[in-house]
Amino acid sequence: MANSPDALRPIIVRTVKQLRGHTGQWRRAGQTIGLVPTMGALHDGHISLAQIAKDNADRLIVSIFVNSKQFSPHEDFDRYPREQDADVAKLAAVQADLVFLPSADEMYGEGFATTIHVDDLTRDLCAATRPRLFDGVTTIVTKLLLQTTPDIAVFGEKDYQQLLVIRRLVRDLDIAVTILSGPTKREPDGLAISSRNQYLTPEQRGVAAQLNRILRDTADEIAQGSGIAAQVALAKSKLTGIGFDGMDYLEVRDADTLEPIDRLERPARILGAVWLGTTRLIDNREILPSKSGGDPLV
Ligand code: AMP
Repeated sequence: MANSPDALRPIIVRTVKQLRGHTGQWRRAGQTIGLVPTMGALHDGHISLAQIAKDNADRLIVSIFVNSKQFSPHEDFDRYPREQDADVAKLAAVQADLVFLPSADEMYGEGFATTIHVDDLTRDLCAATRPRLFDGVTTIVTKLLLQTTPDIAVFGEKDYQQLLVIRRLVRDLDIAVTILSGPTKREPDGLAISSRNQYLTPEQRGVAAQLNRILRDTADEIAQGSGIAAQVALAKSKLTGIGFDGMDYLEVRDADTLEPIDRLERPARILGAVWLGTTRLIDNREILPSKSGGDPLV
């Protein structure tokens, strides 16, 4: 018997109390819970993480919260896309059980005074130009993990530095959750899918796909033995020549520690952040030493 569309709609809750009512019921029934935290404007990347959560837990919760604390004053908090109805429809299609849609007051009540800070991994890369990003992310993710107490939570490799920071946070604070990651979903031309891609003009959209192509080609060259410094310099000049309007960084780092490396002896990652007009795009690719043969560590 086919379910009616209504039967497939996720429960929508806006308060922690309501959320805990549902998670408590599921736990008492012996069910496991998977969480996918998002800022909404959901796309195939988010949905792929939701699918991973579904495959690894009995119940799927997706949170949608545009987290003011991770934006600096000059960033795009105000214009960040908010598409609640379309988001809920997409989550109904993937049969999410519950959508957590808290208000800013619910998450940051009057007098809110706590910040969760992860050191080391947040010293540079995205942190260099987005000073509030990681404290904002680790504070909200800690809250979401405490609010939902999931068995698993899923994050995207698209935000690779963020993924490592969250793994560190969970380890350091002994939070009883398994962090899973999902590969970056891409448009047919290779552009990493992002809620921010909708800011791009058609002309910028054409240039945007070159970021992935250049990262991929550079990663391939380095994997085949070319020197890291020379390849990074070449990639930077290609990015500038091709029409990007600026670059926050383009770096090859150790895949686990994000320490700078000058030789490929262990799994590494090439990471880039570039600008097209007022839109900032990030992407990354893995680089495996040719003899390692093993799986990357994330
Ligand atoms: P956001 O809504 O941008 O905060 O992202 C929520 C989650 O989706 C994060 O774990 C991101 O890393 C992940 N994500 C964003 N874009 C993609 C993508 N193209 N492929 C896979 N995961 C993604």
